[in-house]
Amino acid sequence: MDDVPIFDPEAWRLTDLEAELSARARKLGAEKFAGRAEAWDRDATFPTENYKDMHEAGLLAICIPKEHGGEGGNFRGYALAAAEIGRYCGATALTWNMHVCSTLWTGALADDLEMSDADRKRHTEGRAMHYRRIVEDGALYSQPFSEGGAAAAGFKPFSTEARSTDGGYIVSGKKIFASLAGHADYYGVLCTHIKEGQKPSQRDTLYLAVPAKANGVKVVGDWDPLGMRGTVSRTLIFEDVFVEAAEELMPQGVYFKAASYWPHMFLTLSPSYMGIAQAAYDFTVQYLRGEVPGTPPVKRRMYPTKQIAVAEMRVKLESIKALWFQAISEARYKPSKDQVLRAYATNHLVMETANEICRLAIRTCGGQSMLKSLPLERLYRDSRCGSLMLPWTAELCLDRIGREALYEPGESDD
Ligand SMILES: Cc1cc2nc3c(=O)[nH]c(=O)nc-3n(C[C@H](O)[C@H](O)[C@H](O)COP(=O)(O)OP(=O)(O)OC[C@H]3O[C@@H](n4cnc5c(N)ncnc54)[C@H](O)[C@@H]3O)c2cc1C
Repeated sequence: MDDVPIFDPEAWRLTDLEAELSARARKLGAEKFAGRAEAWDRDATFPTENYKDMHEAGLLAICIPKEHGGEGGNFRGYALAAAEIGRYCGATALTWNMHVCSTLWTGALADDLEMSDADRKRHTEGRAMHYRRIVEDGALYSQPFSEGGAAAAGFKPFSTEARSTDGGYIVSGKKIFASLAGHADYYGVLCTHIKEGQKPSQRDTLYLAVPAKANGVKVVGDWDPLGMRGTVSRTLIFEDVFVEAAEELMPQGVYFKAASYWPHMFLTLSPSYMGIAQAAYDFTVQYLRGEVPGTPPVKRRMYPTKQIAVAEMRVKLESIKALWFQAISEARYKPSKDQVLRAYATNHLVMETANEICRLAIRTCGGQSMLKSLPLERLYRDSRCGSLMLPWTAELCLDRIGREALYEPGESDD
């Protein structure tokens, strides 16, 4: 039996494009990715084969405008499709997020942001080049922002530096947890443009596509984590790497504006975990009905405790679905305070609840369900990683809600 959509197009009133993109993602996930997920997880290897399929299916270009050969999906269209991928392979969904955001942020988001005429012209020409690489060559982009300090959380300028030179920049620094390391064609690096005699500032953040093959780019360290093992998030080192000015993904200062005025851009890590929550619920229903392929047809659904556990899982799933759908529907330029607080709450709840649903699934399905021959224990491990993703970790979402609910901008008690 085919899996039903997480968000039924009629019930949730999806647009035709959203429904079609989600269906395409679900078909690919169910037919191809589900069967491969165990191997990427076991060996902590990158899902290269999945990316070839996604390129063929047009999904690498999901948020590239149609006039550039893409699918023309918007924020919500992407999020819904990514949740469907997350159901079948969390690591593919999460790394796809890094790639897609490189096009979404430079596309629909950037169109909303103020830029000088000169910057707008440069940006329009620049992104056409990035789009062409993706549409024609299947190029992969990643987003290595994390450095192990306070920069990725949004509290300090990035330590990775870019210094102006003839025709571009010299980039040096280190990025940790760089998903797609060794597999992306371009690393979308956030770095601070250093200006002689001035203190490094977050306003001078540059977002540059560093070619993976450029001299001075190194991938180091191993990757043997608890979950999301197929993301291959190893460490990247940039040793005086020359990057052409044309590789700017956004003009200087625009990333800072995006983070300030389009905060839902950081909600894009949640779809993978929405999909994992749905997968854990689906598995539990199938398992208790004795219908999981490869397991004996033993029914366990007649026990009241199992029924209550499934009901609890359903209540949790419905609550995150409803809140998440609202938050992805209202993602916009300059959202209201209420919408921003809701976005933090959504991210916190989806990340924590996905893990909670997986925990309940293992408890109620029992010992046999956590064997590595079945997907549930992988879902459980993958789901634990959601709360750790900066800048909106589960803790930092609470931190922001508390502060921003109690203080208006500029207020203090001093
Ligand atoms: C599977 C996976 C894939 C990833 N892929 C990428 C990627 O592609 N690109 C990328 O840039 N990063 C990626 N990350 C990294 C991620 O976003 C975080 O940067 C990383 O998990 C932070 O680890 P840390 O131990 O350095 O966190 P720390 O900075 O030490 O923070 C630890 C915890 O403390 C809290 N905290 C941090 N700062 C503050 C503060 N100022 N006030 C209060 N609490 C705070 C947060 O809740 C955080 O979870 C990935 C992580 C995982 C697990």
